[in-house]
Amino acid sequence: MSNAKSLEELEQKQDFIRRHIGPSPAQVSDMLSALEVSSVQELIDQTVPARIRLEQPLTVGQSRTEVETLSYLKSVASKNKVFKSYIGQGYHPTNVPHVILRNVLENPGWYTAYTPYQPEIAQGRLESLLNFQTMTLDLTGLDLASASLLDESTAAAEAMGLAKRVSKAKKANAFFIADDVHTQTIDVVTTRAEQFGFEIIVGKAEDAVNHDIFGALFQYPTTSGEVVDITDLIAGVQSKKAIACVAADIMSLLLLKAPGKLGADVVLGSAQRFGVPMGYGGPHAAFFATRDAYKRSLPGRIIGVSKDRLGNDALRMAMQTREQHIRRDKANSNICTAQVLLANMAAFYAVYHGPQGLKTIAQRIHRFADILASGLKAKGIALKHSTWFDTLTVVSDSKDDVIARAIAKGVNFATNHEGEYSISVSETTTRADITELFDIILGEGHGLSVDAIAADVEANGSESIPVSLVRDDEVLTHPNFNSYHSETDMLRYIKRLESKDLSLNHSMISLGSCTMKLNATAEMIPITWPEFANLHPFCPLDQAEGYQIMIGELHDWLVNITGYDAVSLQPNSGAQGEYAGLIAIRKYHESRGDAHRNVCLIPSSAHGTNPASAQMASMKIVVVNCDKNGNVDMADLKAKAEEVSENLSCIMITYPSTHGVYEETIREICDIIHEHGGQVYMDGANMNAQVGVTSPGFIGSDVSHLNLHKTFCIPHGGGGPGVGPIGVKSHLAPFMPNHSVINVPGTNIGNGAVSAAPYGSAAILPISWAYITMMGSEGLKQATEMAIVNANYLTHELSKHFPILYRGRNNRVAHECIVDLRPLKEQSGITEMDVAKRLQDYGFHSPTMSFPVAGTLMIEPTESESKGEIDRFIEAMVSIKGEIEKVISGEWSIENNPLVFAPHTQGDVLGNEWDRAYDRFYAAFPVPAVAKNKFWPTVTRIDDVYGDRNLVCSCPAVETYRD
Ligand SMILES: *Cc1c(COP(=O)(O)O)cnc(C)c1O
Repeated sequence: MSNAKSLEELEQKQDFIRRHIGPSPAQVSDMLSALEVSSVQELIDQTVPARIRLEQPLTVGQSRTEVETLSYLKSVASKNKVFKSYIGQGYHPTNVPHVILRNVLENPGWYTAYTPYQPEIAQGRLESLLNFQTMTLDLTGLDLASASLLDESTAAAEAMGLAKRVSKAKKANAFFIADDVHTQTIDVVTTRAEQFGFEIIVGKAEDAVNHDIFGALFQYPTTSGEVVDITDLIAGVQSKKAIACVAADIMSLLLLKAPGKLGADVVLGSAQRFGVPMGYGGPHAAFFATRDAYKRSLPGRIIGVSKDRLGNDALRMAMQTREQHIRRDKANSNICTAQVLLANMAAFYAVYHGPQGLKTIAQRIHRFADILASGLKAKGIALKHSTWFDTLTVVSDSKDDVIARAIAKGVNFATNHEGEYSISVSETTTRADITELFDIILGEGHGLSVDAIAADVEANGSESIPVSLVRDDEVLTHPNFNSYHSETDMLRYIKRLESKDLSLNHSMISLGSCTMKLNATAEMIPITWPEFANLHPFCPLDQAEGYQIMIGELHDWLVNITGYDAVSLQPNSGAQGEYAGLIAIRKYHESRGDAHRNVCLIPSSAHGTNPASAQMASMKIVVVNCDKNGNVDMADLKAKAEEVSENLSCIMITYPSTHGVYEETIREICDIIHEHGGQVYMDGANMNAQVGVTSPGFIGSDVSHLNLHKTFCIPHGGGGPGVGPIGVKSHLAPFMPNHSVINVPGTNIGNGAVSAAPYGSAAILPISWAYITMMGSEGLKQATEMAIVNANYLTHELSKHFPILYRGRNNRVAHECIVDLRPLKEQSGITEMDVAKRLQDYGFHSPTMSFPVAGTLMIEPTESESKGEIDRFIEAMVSIKGEIEKVISGEWSIENNPLVFAPHTQGDVLGNEWDRAYDRFYAAFPVPAVAKNKFWPTVTRIDDVYGDRNLVCSCPAVETYRD
């Protein structure tokens, strides 16, 4: 009987909390003794200032098991009605090749990787992204492509930004958008223009030349489906020294002449229909290409080919200095987290099908559109256009009847333009579907036979694509698109690339500020359920009830967790959230007659996205100094706030600070800003140190973005996706983003959109939803506390060997710490870069390097790492310190030691020649733990300068493979 346990105790054994939290109870008590405290509570009391501690627990409910959570979520998801979508407008049903579905989208080797800042251990996804760029170049007909942007509409807004930077029409301040561009794109570009102070002119495409403009945007084919030769429109725009931008449908480009060949300066679009589910709006990758001459103005990242130390081809992000981390408010764009995982899926889709397969898919889609058109015309139905690729628009008096019949059959058309409806066929369309479409549009008993019409179309051909626009050049000729068409080959190609990359399923990725925590399998499973994956973002709301319930619950929980009054889930990255938050602040000031308030205070320690966002909102940036302890210099803050008082818009501040400490004066900072009539924007990247313990709203700020891809378990995907919702106090709520196709409840009708879809990257919201559900109020708080325990333990152990740059009260840190490598560098000449690369030999991804302070590493272990893993990391760092000491002592010279030669590849270590001061075995297996789980970097250290001088951003020619 003494073994008898209550049912409750027995059930608790299965809870999710202890799966999410890495350290076991025994490990926790070991760490607490190392820290000389008797309980977690004592450590938290020492660390978090009492006056910001929440008085009330969170109210997101009790922790639920994985099984319960998924079964409830399934019942919610099944409230979504998955209709056949012919809505088009930038989102199309697609058949995700199963080999890609399982081995990329559902594979932690791909989805848990970080942004490829450490290229030697990221060659796999870099190759895939290079495939994406090569595909973009081929299909668009331009010279230079970037890796991926957030969505088509924001890519169009970036195109406008580029146009302004490079156009020779320097006096012009207007950007023209053809009225047949997708509605959401007009919306997002208009929002952006308003922030930049540009004028937007929307009109008939032919009208562009009649305006004084610096750029223009056309859609190809148009949103209503017409395939227009835009050569003259482009030339007209260019005759005004303005930049011609074209938003193109990626699938149509297999059959249509490349816009670049028609003269376009910029071509962009969504890669969604290349094998990425619609997911109620996202995430998907956008592509972007331009002329070589504009490479310095290109938004986002370019993957480029360079050489490694041994002269082998090696890939890395080119011209990284353009990024906002370095250029801050001078950055071209604010693309940090983008859509790498989805860009990779689209690239793999092209690799899998190859040029022939893709062309066949595109031809089949086009043939179905021809058949549909032919049947409708035979029955006297008037089509709006005489050309099309996949979309037909019907001008109709009986629209309501047709739509009612469609809905009754579980079919959606695009209905948002008055007096007409549009039908976009897709890769998933079948002959039976075309018959059904005839039934819907003509009523049953129409007597049309799809087979008969098909035979007719085949015999007589079709003129629905103008002869001048028929594509006649080869695309995707590179071997990567012509080699992996059997599933075995494809599977191995995906695996080969995956194996080159270090992800969370290999070891801890302790990136300060980026919170690489567990992305639990149970959280990931729902995202590929058809009920979530296959909804079009513009489907009628009553078909998305499941989404609305899930989003509603997540919304309410995030309100509770942040201490705000309302949340917008539209922004699809953290940087995008900053932008949305600053717009809300700006509109709020304007609503009070304070339009002149445009100064944004930013502490010198801020993340690069902060100044980049402030610049996008046309704010003037005034930098506030930090003191020697890394805190905001209060005297400087007061002086600067005083100085700009009249014009103060806001402060952007990260809490706990970017220096990893709970600043004691945070409340006072908020008060000072408010006294001067300003708003407080709290960057939520560090929410992992706040959840359940304190909150931005409680502390006194007005608006924050959260990174659901950091604190709330959405995986980084190798550089995206992400979700950057903003939370606001009630006075800012009316100013949050809305959407011109689907109204977002609770926001002003007139508010513009910041993303293409009303709920941004809706398809990945179930991840955060499931995390919060499974952790419950208690688990979320524990996660924060354990993040603090782990960070303090790591700090404590590392501080025996390295100086820790900043600490807060009682010598504690928050959820991350900064290790200062500068003193060692001074003595030895070994740089932080050498340490980062040597860590790869030990099987670890480097922590955040030289941010926020040059010459340092910022380390964040998160709550998900066990003490065992943290100890291995510490062991590696201590061993590296020993290596540096050997350089200092002269045992190894600065030119010949394992640090400067790091990372070591198999080829390097096993090569015939070896003239190093250390032995081969030590190079690769410096500590015994490495041998048990060796990760081999596949290239040696990469030469960035060489790559930037010789910019190559498409797959290297075949000859280099033969070498
Ligand atoms: C990650 C991060 C951001 C930006 O988020 P993205 O999703 O990458 O755009 C902003 N601020 C801080 C402090 C961050 O760590």
